[in-house]
Amino acid sequence: MTLLPLLDACPKRMEYGPCGGVGFDGSCEIDPEHTCAFLPRGTVPWTGVDRVSVPAPGPRTVAAAETLASFGTRPWVVADLPARALSVASIDSCAAVLAGEVDAVLAGDAGTARVQFPPAYRAHLLRRAGLRVWTGLNMRDRNRVAIEGELAALAVEGVAGVHCVTGDHTRTGHRPDAAPVFDLDSTEAAALARAAGHVVSVAASPAAPPVERRAARLREKLRAGADVCFVNHAGGAEPVRRFIDSVAAPVRFIPCVPVVVDHASADVLESFTTLVLPDGFLSRVRDARDPRAEGIALAVALAEELLALPGVVGVNLSGGRDGGEESFAEAQAEIARRLR
Ligand code: SF4
Repeated sequence: MTLLPLLDACPKRMEYGPCGGVGFDGSCEIDPEHTCAFLPRGTVPWTGVDRVSVPAPGPRTVAAAETLASFGTRPWVVADLPARALSVASIDSCAAVLAGEVDAVLAGDAGTARVQFPPAYRAHLLRRAGLRVWTGLNMRDRNRVAIEGELAALAVEGVAGVHCVTGDHTRTGHRPDAAPVFDLDSTEAAALARAAGHVVSVAASPAAPPVERRAARLREKLRAGADVCFVNHAGGAEPVRRFIDSVAAPVRFIPCVPVVVDHASADVLESFTTLVLPDGFLSRVRDARDPRAEGIALAVALAEELLALPGVVGVNLSGGRDGGEESFAEAQAEIARRLR
């Protein structure tokens, strides 16, 4: 591998990298022939958007204040929204299953469908269906002006939180014909979302290189404005505990719990190349006489372990499948019920 010489050699144009997709061998997720441009460099300290301006935190929205007040009073169970893209009927039917069962749905980026309803419109549909919404906002598809417009609309809509991610590159999805934007990255977006009054979450991938600097990178996201960290699959409760210890900062954690209920949902999780699941997790589901029952039981057990960790305020039931979205939502609802 040759070394990309400049920060702007990052295909996602990140200032505060690296992203969570760095290969286990240090390669760039977009261009495996090259080393991730950030690996040879130290953690980039937060100094503002484009390193010129630091947005002032704004007063919290009513919904954001409610979210913050509820942390610690009960464990939050957040579920990835499993609905089909561009289908109001699918959103409505999944929402009907999840409403009253989970604390919020995470409606965000999808590996399987690059073309999605705009974030604020999706939030509107889900709120209309009786769900609290935690909106995922990626930087791939919109420039900063469009992002600011979405943040304003999400404040009006009253979302519980905004999850800021840089997002996958268009080259890795089903729309490689589309130009990626990446005007901002997740850290910069966190600052804008905080300025708009939202509860802001960001992602951390403790198992992705540079493992020893993932905690420091999260601390810079906190300085930018993040309140909550969704912890990507890191191999079980013990690796998450070690990561939380290494962050050593007042942040609320919502670790991801893999939901695998059949071979199709196992395939979806396996398609994310840099996640680490607990040993034998997928094979136990695949080999079980009743994979659905086994997957639900494993998810509940892992969620209970994670919720017992200091700093953890909730879990994110993560995953999905193409087809059978409502059935997947029913599994998420069942897990949420058992966690109560
Ligand atoms: S791995 Fe991610 S952060 Fe690193 S150069 Fe590639 S796109 Fe940029």
